[in-house]
Amino acid sequence: MLSTMNDGPLSIARLLRQGSGPHGASAEVVTWTGDGARRSTYAEVGRDAARLAHALRGLGVTGDQRVGTFMWNNAEHLTAYLAVPSMGAVLHTLNIRLFPEQVSYVANHAEDHVVLVDHTLLPLFGKLLPEMKTVRHVVVVGGDPAALDAPSGVEVHGYADLLAGQPDEFDWPELDERSAAAMCYTSGTTANPKGVVYSHRSIYLHSMQVCMTDGMGLRQGDRGLAVVPMFHAMSWGLPYAAFMIGASMLMPDRFLQPEPLVTMMAAERPTMAAAVPTIWQGVLAELDANPRDISSMHEVVIGGSACPPAMMRTFQERYGITVVHAWGMTETSPLGSLARPPASATGEDVWPYRESQGRLPASVEGRLVGDDGGILPWDGRSVGELEVRGPWVAKAYCGDDDPEKFHDGWLRTGDVGYLTPEGFLHLTDRAKDVIKSGGEWISSVELENQVMAHPAVAEAMVIGVPDEKWSERPLVAVVLREGQSADAAELREFLTGSVAGWQLPEYWTFITEAPKTSVGKFDKKRLRQHHAEGALDVIHLT
Ligand code: AMP
Repeated sequence: MLSTMNDGPLSIARLLRQGSGPHGASAEVVTWTGDGARRSTYAEVGRDAARLAHALRGLGVTGDQRVGTFMWNNAEHLTAYLAVPSMGAVLHTLNIRLFPEQVSYVANHAEDHVVLVDHTLLPLFGKLLPEMKTVRHVVVVGGDPAALDAPSGVEVHGYADLLAGQPDEFDWPELDERSAAAMCYTSGTTANPKGVVYSHRSIYLHSMQVCMTDGMGLRQGDRGLAVVPMFHAMSWGLPYAAFMIGASMLMPDRFLQPEPLVTMMAAERPTMAAAVPTIWQGVLAELDANPRDISSMHEVVIGGSACPPAMMRTFQERYGITVVHAWGMTETSPLGSLARPPASATGEDVWPYRESQGRLPASVEGRLVGDDGGILPWDGRSVGELEVRGPWVAKAYCGDDDPEKFHDGWLRTGDVGYLTPEGFLHLTDRAKDVIKSGGEWISSVELENQVMAHPAVAEAMVIGVPDEKWSERPLVAVVLREGQSADAAELREFLTGSVAGWQLPEYWTFITEAPKTSVGKFDKKRLRQHHAEGALDVIHLT
């Protein structure tokens, strides 16, 4: 028996209509300009989205053609987020921090027809454009479009000129909810980046999870600070969810350094924010050096890599802000799990839950697979690789079924850990980062967390390095806080008691800056490279 329910498609156009209609006057997008802010209501964003869609049609964008963005987080990027999928085309967010050859590779692979570029990124983009073989139009946002020296066959337009005089309404087509809406390439540390193609349906359902109380808890009236770039897994779903629910968006544009970020936070009063741990490390240091009022924030969502428990405590104890630890991947839209303690946990008991990667929601089914391929129990002990599937989890890459990564509808995450009977996920490592010492596993994440709990340590990265006796031993690379000192012996002593004796690292190195990936995570591949090249000054404690 079939249901009697209407099955109108779940689409981005619905989100656009909801945000720009009922929430049109009350919600706004704020773009930081360095010394102040530009503001547009969601009603204005809705009108601009219609104008942009007309302008793109005028540039020949039809069907599911790809429209790339090479942009910071700002109002115009939000407009493109809404306009491009709603008109039936596919938004492709280009990661401005990928290696140049990777950016042109993904633009060619996705067959981008048009690219929208922030004028502040033109010097970088200008070098990449000659290698982008399918791009016919570049739309420059702000500044002078004539500053771009385009190869023949590519037309350059100014965003404001292109939108001027366009109708402020668009007859958004009714689309199949399973059709492509947006795409984002994984950062691809070894092989070429792989394209994840989100559907209208997956984005719509994911937005609901962002708005659920036990999801990211985004609600009407919130002011969400999207520090996480709009080219990193769709800014973790915040822009679409904000339009769904009527939350305002605070966009830092290119002002992502700790000082301007904190200035923006003090001026624009976010109620929640989302970013990777390394960003918060800088923000907390800036607040230490130069205190500002950030009491408007009640929660920050931290994910993308393991959040050091010491950071969670600092947020809670010093600023009364709750950290919601989240795990996800570009392939999972990205919300996988969120660490919200069960209602029964109170006081100190909440911490083991908060420090975990949290619970998978109903829509993200998970299982743990052991070395022998067997399915492991959720007993809080058995460690295996996490596999997931669900309506906002990818089942293939663009043009590549990748049987290594996807099998029987499950996504191999490459993340290793255990699940408790209550469903809390504890990740111990990336499969490729685990350290095997004398036949026993050492969690690099656990060691990093413990070292980062030392008051003199700003950042700590742990990798496995070859060792004659144990085959592999951990090497700790430490960045000290400004003006602080600690030596290897003291740090090792600090770990005694919280780390098993045989796991205590004897290899240490002090670095001035931790190498980071294009989305701001610790880049262990580069640290390994530095070590292999003999570029690290390694202290061997005996
Ligand atoms: P990306 O697709 O670039 O965002 O990378 C996804 C990967 O980031 C995951 O497979 C994890 O290895 C890592 N990751 C994301 N969130 C967390 C977290 N909360 N704790 C540990 N690792 C994480």
